[in-house]
This record gives sequence, structure tokens and C-alpha cells, in this order.
Amino acid sequence: MDLGGMVLRALLLKDQLHTKPCKRCGLHYDDRELKCPHCSELGPDALQAMLKGKELEREGNIPMGRVFLLVGIVLAAFVLVGVLAL
Ligand SMILES: [Zn+2]
Repeated sequence: MDLGGMVLRALLLKDQLHTKPCKRCGLHYDDRELKCPHCSELGPDALQAMLKGKELEREGNIPMGRVFLLVGIVLAAFVLVGVLAL
């Protein structure tokens, strides 16, 4: 077993137990904080700009995942061809 990975996972889980989603911006933050550190300092315009940026970030990640999937399929095909050629 990977002890480091388990510790990291336990820490992440512990972290999640103490977070709540912000009603204003939707980001998670520590529930011991009185106000959201992500958006409490932002005005309505800045909040919109920040959320727009997050949205673009998410959209940008989707094609990246597809690229990795495609690379995985191509690699698997190469391995298969290599095995069949033997
Ligand atoms: Zn917030």
C-alpha cells in the first residue's frame, strides 16, 4: 500500500469535511471562516469576472481530457499492433 497516498487522501477528506460551498460564488471554503475568502472582497462586477474565468477554465479542461483519452487509445492501438506483429 502507498502510505503517502493514503495520508494525502485522508488529509483531503478531512479538508472536505470542513468546507462548505459559498452561496454567492459556488466555491468551497472553510466552514470556520465567517465569510467566503473567494468572493467576500469582490464587488458584483469583479465576482462576475471571476466566475467567468472559472467557467472558461473548466471549459478549457474538457478538450484536454479528450486529448489524453485519444492519446491513450492510440497508445493502446500501437501496443495491440505490436503484440499482433510478434
Ligand atoms: Zn464566495
